[in-house]
Formats: sequence, structure tokens, C-alpha cells
Amino acid sequence: MSTIRFKAIEKASSNKPVEYSTPYTSGSKIFGTKVFHTDVMREYMTKDAYEAVINSIETGQPIDRKVAGMVAAAMKNWALEHGATHYTHWFQPLTGATAEKHDAFFEPIGQGKAIENFEASQLVQQEPDASSFPNGGIRNTFEARGYTAWDPTSPAFVIESTLCIPTIFVSYTGEALDHKTPLLNALHAVDKAATEVCQYFDKNVTKVISTLGWEQEYFLIDLALFSARPDLIMSGRTLFGHAPAKGQQLEDHYFGSIPERAKAFMREIENECLQLGIPIKTRHNEVAPNQFECAPVFEETNLAVDHNQLLMDVMDKVGQKHNFKVLLHEKPFAGVNGSGKHNNWSLATNTGKNLLSPGKTPKNNLQFLTFFVNTIKAVHDYADLLRVAIASAGNDHRLGANEAPPAIMSVFIGEQLTRILDELEKKVKDGKISADDKTDLKLNIARIPEILLDNTDRNRTSPFAFTGNKFEFRAVGSSANCALAMATLNTIVAEQLKQFKKEVDALLDKGAKKDDAIFQILRNYISSSKKIRFEGNGYGDEWVKEATKRGLKNIKTTPQALDAMLEKQAVKVFTVNKVMTEREIHARYEIQLETYTKKIQIESRVMGDIALNHIIPCAIKYQNTLIQNVTGLKGLFNAAEFKKIGTTQLEMIQEISEHISMIKKHVEAMVEERKKANLFENAKKQAIAYCDKVIPHFEIIRYHADKLELVVDNECWPLPKYREMLWIR
Ligand code: ADP
Ligand code: MG
Repeated sequence: MSTIRFKAIEKASSNKPVEYSTPYTSGSKIFGTKVFHTDVMREYMTKDAYEAVINSIETGQPIDRKVAGMVAAAMKNWALEHGATHYTHWFQPLTGATAEKHDAFFEPIGQGKAIENFEASQLVQQEPDASSFPNGGIRNTFEARGYTAWDPTSPAFVIESTLCIPTIFVSYTGEALDHKTPLLNALHAVDKAATEVCQYFDKNVTKVISTLGWEQEYFLIDLALFSARPDLIMSGRTLFGHAPAKGQQLEDHYFGSIPERAKAFMREIENECLQLGIPIKTRHNEVAPNQFECAPVFEETNLAVDHNQLLMDVMDKVGQKHNFKVLLHEKPFAGVNGSGKHNNWSLATNTGKNLLSPGKTPKNNLQFLTFFVNTIKAVHDYADLLRVAIASAGNDHRLGANEAPPAIMSVFIGEQLTRILDELEKKVKDGKISADDKTDLKLNIARIPEILLDNTDRNRTSPFAFTGNKFEFRAVGSSANCALAMATLNTIVAEQLKQFKKEVDALLDKGAKKDDAIFQILRNYISSSKKIRFEGNGYGDEWVKEATKRGLKNIKTTPQALDAMLEKQAVKVFTVNKVMTEREIHARYEIQLETYTKKIQIESRVMGDIALNHIIPCAIKYQNTLIQNVTGLKGLFNAAEFKKIGTTQLEMIQEISEHISMIKKHVEAMVEERKKANLFENAKKQAIAYCDKVIPHFEIIRYHADKLELVVDNECWPLPKYREMLWIR
């Protein structure tokens, strides 16, 4: 009997909802209580210092030392009052996780005395010994130092007894080693470009911010069952497991009532999040069994990204308390839906206007159309880069499976807006619009708000969909740092808006009227970006064919997708907009390839181990029982009689042998391929070898192991089965 599995099942079924130790209260009472936000700052600082900080945050000007000293003192006092004993720079290295290194405020001052100390220098800059974070060759060992620098645009917060200060992480020579640095650069670029375009419509606009509202999907499984699955522990996904009789086919989990144990977990998550200033608002069951989603109200993108990283951390910690493991992998279970992280994105002005929401005046609507069409054009021109931004070993399993957006980039805008764009394209010809056509066009555009109001057009199969007042980038993976997708999207939109401004200005210089010039350029973009628009079913095979005809790429694997990073156009868009240098781009390319290779290598090793050390021995044990049975029967019956009653057992013995030998053969072949792949010094060649030569064995090994799961005695099967993991009671 497989004691590990059965003990885990026993433990899992005895787990009850865990009561939260703090009484629940309304969200508004606890919101932001653990955050050193600007209002708190005002209380703890002099008026002058406070204003200096706010000014720096808004303009991006560096904060001078004296002011930083005052912020540090204020932060320390506030943090001590909130139970903090330590502080840390909190940053996002390219590992995908967040990093922290705690130091105590405590400092001995001699004669057996000590104080709590925290100064400007400790707030502004730290030098963590960070030589083992991924750097893609940027840091040689002799310059192995990296440093973290305070990001005043994202407020500090207290978790447990630690004050966390959001920071960027850069090498000693100034190159970014994290996700935040390029994101901040991209946000700056889009601010500048969008503000300039806004001047055509509204001179009061002096700043444009990018907004992000993520929707986080995840699976919950019982911690005891998780602990009995080496594949989940090592790789975050199940590498084996036959589909259960009941999966998601009845669609009874989606938006269903949330199991009590999960609800207790969610309430604690929400309570923790709200205190940390994460405006979490929505929770529901997702499509697959044990799959859930949570979403906050959208925020400024840098803050939203930090909050998502923080949420993933909090989820893990709270999960443990509730005897859950939170699975953020994009495809933890075969045969049921994977998890994504929809990135709802828009741009908003300092005047409070959402640029992707049409307004009350014709001018506002033309402004909406301008940002709408420019975004589509940016996605069209840089589709490959968006594909790069969502590429990961985990997401490769999800994209293009029939429950997730395909690996083909396309934009969905709905029938009504399609009609408006078509009309615009038709009516503006060769730089001229007749007076009648112009009136028509303006009338049509004036109707956009009404159209959108009752626009129930929803397409769940598009990787990039317009949803009324924002675009929703759905292809982002559930474990990803949103910064990757957001840095790319904001950069390409910035570049596109700059281009638009240049082209409109050129027409204005030639004496064109402003509206005419804008119409003309938008028309050109509508025409030239048409092939990226797709309104049909993105999950269908038809679309794959149609997309090929249109010349859209369908890049299925990460090593292939990453190539686009190094293309001239890509390097240019990041360097010209000062988001990343060429060296940084190359470093990231290497890191992404290496990460891919390492992930597949780990999966492959775990797969081999489980197959040889868990599954085959258990199959042999059961086969021995069958052999004993056959031997026994042969002793009891003559040959003719045995033929009648013993054939099935013989066939089963045979079947088990066949599966075992296939598993063994493919594990050996896989190991050979791994050895060959490991010899490559070139990161691309190595990743491709893992992708093309190692991965194909996974499916075959799994197929035979899953067949054995169906044949072998349930009592001795070593791994918790899908049916046991996928239902929280
Ligand atoms: P859906 O129908 O897609 O679930 P919701 O209105 O529930 O739409 O919004 C989903 C997410 O989109 C939420 O996080 C929400 O805050 C966010 N969102 C709404 N408006 C914007 C915006 N202007 N910019 C960015 N995100 C937004
Ligand atoms: Mg949504």
C-alpha cells in the first residue's frame, strides 16, 4: 500500500476551514493601514519636506539628501509604531520572484545601549550581495556588485515586522537587473508621448499615466497532497496523472458557490491585501475544478505591478496557514484549463480622463479614436514583441490549448467599432474628405459613447481585446510579472504615438486643418493595421489557417518567440525610447533562454525520477501479484481450464510490461538528449534542443505512465491522483 499517498489523502480530508485570527471588518476601515502612503507622510513630516517629496514623485526629479533624511526619519517612526523591527529594500530581480534582505533598525551605540536607527543613506540606496541573481552576463565577478535604489512612486509598507521599501535593482555600471527599471522607463516614455498627442485635444493635459487592472487566476490544492507530488514541488505542475472521470465538462465550478475552505483562505487574503493597500475587490470560481480568480480595482501601472507581486507572495504565505498550496503555474493540470493573468490596460490624464473611454464632446471622441487606433497600430507593428513579453516555459502549455488565447497576436474590437473604423477608412481618401462625409463621420464618432454603453460584444478568445474603456491583454501567464507585458505595451504605444504626432504635424505644416490631418493619419493606420484585427473564434483551427494567410505569426514555443527581441526594430523601439539599452536587451534574451532551459531540465529530471523510482516499481509490484495469481491458477487448473480463466491476467501482465518498457526506453532516450543539449554553449541552441528533443519524450512517458495508473491497483499507486487533488471538500 502506498502509505505516503494515503496519509496525504487522510490529512487532506481532515482539513477544515481555518479561522482567521483577526476579526473581519469592512474593507474601508483597514484599507492601507500598513502603507506609508502620502497622507501618512503628511502627518509625519514638515510641510516643506512633504511638498518636496510629492513634487519629486510627480515630476520624477531626484529627491535631495536632506529631504530623503526627513522621509527616512518619518518612515522609521511610522514603521516602529506599526511593529516593525527590520527594514528591507524590496525588489524584483529577473528570477520572477521578489527579493528582500532584512536589516534591523537596531544599532548598538556603546556602553550597553542601543537605538533604532534608519537614515537617508539606508533608504535611498543599498548594496545587497546579489551576485547570484540572473544578470545575463552584465556583471562580471569583479564588478559583481549590484545596488538597489528607492522608488518613491511606490509607497513603503509593513509586512509582519518588516518595513518593505520598493526599489529598483541595477548593476554597478548602471544596467537594469530587474523588472521595475524598464517598466518605469516605459511609463515615462508613454507619459511624454501621450501628453504631447493630448495637446491636439486639450491643453490642460500635462501628464498621462498608464493604468493596469490585473485579474489573477490560480489553483488551490491541499498542502498534504501537494507534498506527496514531487513533480508539483519541483516544477509547479503535474507531469503525470490520468484525467479524472469528472473534470470541468459539466461546467459546474465556474462562478459556483465557493467551497468553505477556499472562502476562508480568500477572506484572509483580502484582509491582508486591503491592509497593504491592494484594492482587491473581486473573487470567484474559475472554469476548472479548484481554480479561482481575484482582481483589484485598477491602479497606476507601476503600483499595480508591485501589488500583483506582493499578492503572489501573500497568497503563498496565507495558503500555507490554510493548508493549501497556491499553484500559480500556467498549466498545473493537463486536460483542464490553465491559468492566466489578464492585464486590463488604459491611459489616463491628470485631468481625470480615461483616454480609451469616449467622452461627451466630439473632441473627446476624436481623442478616444486617436488612442484607440494608435494602440491597434502599435500591436500590429510590434506583435512579435508582445509575444516575447508573454513567453515562458509554463505559458507555452497554455497558449493555443483550446481554453486560452492562441499564440497568434490579434486584436478584437467588436462589431460596432469595426464598422466605425471601416467607415473612416472609406470616407477619407487621398488626404481629402468631402464636407458631407466629414459631417457623417463626426456624427458617427459622436455616437461611439452610446454604442459602447450597450455594447455587449464580448469575445473571450482574443489575446488582446477592447472591452469598452480599456484593452485587455489576456495572453499573460498567471505566474508572470506583469512588468514584462506592461513595459512592452507602453513602449510600443509610446513609439506609435510619437510617430503619429510626427505625421500629423507634417500635414499641419503643409496647411492641413487639425481634424483633417488627424482623420487622414488615423485612416492610414486603420488600413495598414487591418490584418491584426480579428473578430471570430480565436480558439478555432479556422483562425490558424486564416492567420497564416494574413501573414500573422503563430510562434508556439518560447525559444522561437524570443528571437524577436534581437531584431533591429525591437532593439530600436526599446533603445530610442530609453527603456532598455542594447546590452540590457541582450542580457534579458540570454536570461529568458537560460530560464527556459533550466525549467525544462528540472521537469525532465523529475519526470525521469518519478517514472523510474515511483511508477515502474509500483507497476512491477502489481505485476508480481498478477504473476502469483497466474501461477496459482496454473496449479489449480489444467491447461484448457486455465486458458478460459487466466488469459485476462496474462494480458494484463503483458500490458504492464509493454508500458514499463516504453517508459524505460523513453526515459533513457530523454536522458541522452539532455546530455547532448547540455553540451551546447550557445544558450539559444541549448534551449531549442531542450524544446525540440527533450520535451517530445515527456508526452510519451506520461502517456504510458497514465495508462499504468488505470491498470495498477489503486492501493499501491504512489502519487495522489487528479480526482483526489482537484476537489477541495
Ligand atoms: P471584466 O468584464 O473584464 O471582468 P471589469 O470591469 O470587472 O471587467 O474589470 C476587470 C479589471 O479591469 C478590473 O481590475 C478593473 O479595475 C480593470 N479596469 C477597469 N477600467 C480600467 C482602466 N481604465 N484601466 C485599467 N484597468 C481597468
Ligand atoms: Mg476581464
